[in-house]
Amino acid sequence: MGIRGSDTHTIMFTDVKVPKENRIGEDGFGFKFAMKTLAGGRIGIAAQALGIASGAYELALAYSKQRKAFGKEIMHHQAIQFKLADMATRIEASRLLCLKAAWEKDNGIDYTVSGSMAKVYSSETAMWTATEAVQIHGGYGFVKEYHVERLMRDAKITQIYEGTSEVQRIVISRSILK
Ligand SMILES: Cc1cc2nc3c(=O)[nH]c(=O)nc-3n(C[C@H](O)[C@H](O)[C@H](O)COP(=O)(O)OP(=O)(O)OC[C@H]3O[C@@H](n4cnc5c(N)ncnc54)[C@H](O)[C@@H]3O)c2cc1C
Repeated sequence: MGIRGSDTHTIMFTDVKVPKENRIGEDGFGFKFAMKTLAGGRIGIAAQALGIASGAYELALAYSKQRKAFGKEIMHHQAIQFKLADMATRIEASRLLCLKAAWEKDNGIDYTVSGSMAKVYSSETAMWTATEAVQIHGGYGFVKEYHVERLMRDAKITQIYEGTSEVQRIVISRSILK
């Protein structure tokens, strides 16, 4: 569907032996290492989602100043203004969540929950913003001449990889309820 710049293939390991000196940690700690890697990666995916959301917002804003419908630029219609206001607000909230998680990681603080919050919120903001950006572009939003259709396709994977949105909510709710 999207992220066409990042190729995905199946890989096969047949009779592969990895020497002990290449092991990245103690025997039996593989799951823990995998989870730690994912937790850090989530901040990166949150930042990727934030970039997609910001790009979609900027394109929608520019288009709304240029496109005229019913005698005025569409930015003068309140329905469009409210979409732009919500986009800007959600993007700002995503940015702050991303920065908090990254700051905690840099400062040696447990960032499991903040990383999940940044990831779930930013990825849902990216999907929503890109979809609304397509809407603001009308029919042009749906065709390839304009970039927003690509952003909408690219946004979707950020809700799925490095832990789905449901998995992030499991992580967050576990920490609330423990
Ligand atoms: C192109 C591409 C690249 C990818 N790259 C990476 C990568 O680099 N790193 C990475 O981590 N992942 C990556 N993924 C994602 C990964 O491959 C899986 O798709 C992802 O972890 C979800 O697992 P699944 O597809 O088996 O879905 P399933 O586990 O089958 O889940 C299906 C649905 O059920 C929900 N669900 C499952 N369990 C629960 C539960 N306990 N409670 C509530 N809901 C639940 C899921 O959230 C999802 O909505 C990539 C995916 C694609 C398509």
